[in-house]
Amino acid sequence: MRMGLDIAVIGGGIAGLSAAWRLSTHHRVTLMERHEVAGMDAHALDLVHDGGTARVDVPLRVLYEGYYPTLIAQYHELGVQLERTNYAGSFSALDGDTYYRYANWLVAGRSVPLPALPIGRTALRINRDLVRIYRLAPIALREIQDSEQPLGSWLDHAKFSPEFSEGFLIPTFAAVCTCSASAVRAYPARVILDYLTRGLTFGGVRRVVMGTREVVRRLTEPVAELRCGVRVQTISPSAHGVRVRWEGGEQVFDHVVVATQANQATTMLDAAYRREREALARFAYEPSEVVVHTDPRLAPRDRRYWAPVNIITTDAHDKPMATIWMNKVQPELHAKSPVFQTWNPILDAKAETIRAHARFERPVVNAASLEGARSVRLLHTQHGRRLWFCGSYLGPGIPLLEAAARTALDVAIAINDDESTTLRLPTPLSRPA
Ligand SMILES: Cc1cc2nc3c(=O)[nH]c(=O)nc-3n(C[C@H](O)[C@H](O)[C@H](O)COP(=O)(O)OP(=O)(O)OC[C@H]3O[C@@H](n4cnc5c(N)ncnc54)[C@H](O)[C@@H]3O)c2cc1C
Repeated sequence: MRMGLDIAVIGGGIAGLSAAWRLSTHHRVTLMERHEVAGMDAHALDLVHDGGTARVDVPLRVLYEGYYPTLIAQYHELGVQLERTNYAGSFSALDGDTYYRYANWLVAGRSVPLPALPIGRTALRINRDLVRIYRLAPIALREIQDSEQPLGSWLDHAKFSPEFSEGFLIPTFAAVCTCSASAVRAYPARVILDYLTRGLTFGGVRRVVMGTREVVRRLTEPVAELRCGVRVQTISPSAHGVRVRWEGGEQVFDHVVVATQANQATTMLDAAYRREREALARFAYEPSEVVVHTDPRLAPRDRRYWAPVNIITTDAHDKPMATIWMNKVQPELHAKSPVFQTWNPILDAKAETIRAHARFERPVVNAASLEGARSVRLLHTQHGRRLWFCGSYLGPGIPLLEAAARTALDVAIAINDDESTTLRLPTPLSRPA
């Protein structure tokens, strides 16, 4: 077994952190991140609120057992504690009323969603179609197989009511994927249906108790060198490996793992990496914004209908806004005055209520991105390969933490296989590509 390769991992999101952690078992890993702390924790804040301080992750990220096998196994190995979070939701029109709500009860260790008042005609239709989609999804997945039929046309074809499609399902996934309603309609139906068939309804969602700072600490513990505040400028082939340049320095590594977003990676890659650049150019992104604030105007008008997750839509905006009522999510905020985290705000929170503001980019999944992911996977099978890619954008499924952790695991296995090491890594549950 050859030991101690010099490996650079570029990007300190969950993909880069996971790859660096796994590869550090046998190699000398240098993790480079452009922010002053690992990117996964770069926007989190110590929120001073109502006479106390709470560490708030920005964005808040949750996970559920059936969809996150790799990440949950990884957190388990790291001793990262997870706790159940109430995921009840409300749906309102920006200039109108709350038209749909569901509660979330914990019964005998199970998480049970139940329709909640008000139950008008719209809510009845949503409930009816919700039952129908859960019944149809496993059958549809078998029929669709690898087809890339977009969700919008699948919903139309299956004759779901507009109340359900436009008022519930599409806004829900616009929040999950933090993207526009039109991007959700273009998502391959199989990706969304797969998400619905993995036990979310009764499994419930969980969050990391100690927050991302603790996740970063544990994942970076075995990493030889963590270089924050380093923005990589170019990556080029070298006779002895891969050359990485940043302002004021350069170094040649045996292997380089690029764990940035695809659009960030293309700007770094030398022209010699033509096929890699072509594959990465297939991924499209949408900007997304997160504001931490105390302005109740970004929550449903009627306070009785506030839920942990409040989705608010308007015809004037293609991106629904999701306002998370943080007091219901983090126990240390339970008894405090309301504080929110709004994703993709369609109203500006009053300036004096804003505690933090961050911008992100989310990859969207469509036929082109799936082709891009296939091309990257093919490139990874080349013998003697030294440049690798991982990140949520490479799938499988919705670009969430699991996809990032899973692709990091795949790269760690590939590098170790390539170097004929005997590193044993856990095999994740099988997931569709
Ligand atoms: C509002 C919102 C809510 C979300 N909620 C959830 C959720 O509930 N559950 C869930 O699973 N996922 C959620 N996500 C998605 C999740 O955050 C992403 O899937 C995940 O963070 C992607 O990780 P990554 O490592 O692939 O990429 P990133 O986190 O984007 O990491 C890439 C890293 O590369 C660094 N970088 C870029 N360029 C350079 C350079 N030139 N040199 C050095 N470093 C560089 C960046 O600073 C960054 O740290 C949410 C996202 C948003 C925006």
